[in-house]
Amino acid sequence: MSYVVEMWQQPSLAVLGSKDRFPVRRIFCVGRNYVEHQKEMGGDGREQPFFFCKAAHDLVPVNAGESGRIHYPPMTANYHWETEMVALIGNGGRNIPAASANDHVWGYAVGLDMTRRDLQQQGKDKGRPWSFGKDFDQAAPCGPVTPASKIGHPSKGKLWLKVNGEFRQLSDIDQMIWSVPEQIAFLTQYYTLEAGDVIYTGTPAGVGAAKAGDELVAGIDDLGELRLRVLAPG
Ligand code: MN
Repeated sequence: MSYVVEMWQQPSLAVLGSKDRFPVRRIFCVGRNYVEHQKEMGGDGREQPFFFCKAAHDLVPVNAGESGRIHYPPMTANYHWETEMVALIGNGGRNIPAASANDHVWGYAVGLDMTRRDLQQQGKDKGRPWSFGKDFDQAAPCGPVTPASKIGHPSKGKLWLKVNGEFRQLSDIDQMIWSVPEQIAFLTQYYTLEAGDVIYTGTPAGVGAAKAGDELVAGIDDLGELRLRVLAPG
């Protein structure tokens, strides 16, 4: 079989302790999954979370011990970081109950749900999709995957982001409104999840605007750090 245009590379993530990589199929993201982040976004902290999607090709994989590079994106003056734990599906399904949802997770990683906040706000104001605000080139940096077979299924642990050496986000993944199993249960009412699908599980308070030259270091206990440099527009 050959294709009429050049075939692209399968987006994938490094796996700690392995030469093999985790292939990424779809990226789901949960919105407003931490109370204090709901409030900083103008909510009352009592909303039900919800999902949106990014393309797998938005992924910026960062290997262990490396520093990733992303360009400041076009058409925005308010480019935000959102530090998130990423859960990676190893075997899929529909209508997966929360009680057994962890059995479907292959591993976890540290990710950044980069956001053109001004374009997202335009979408909200006009009742239009969030795509231009959330789903754009290099919008999904992600560090290497830690297998669940090594660390189990984390439900507690510090999550942080330092920008140019200063803490800007600091919370705990136990502050999620919907836990990872609850997210999988909700999502699989609407979608058939497959191996390779990944879920960005929401960000705590402290989102803010990055600029060219910034160094972002995001971390989660047991999952290591994701290090990134924001370059001038490319
Ligand atoms: Mn997010």
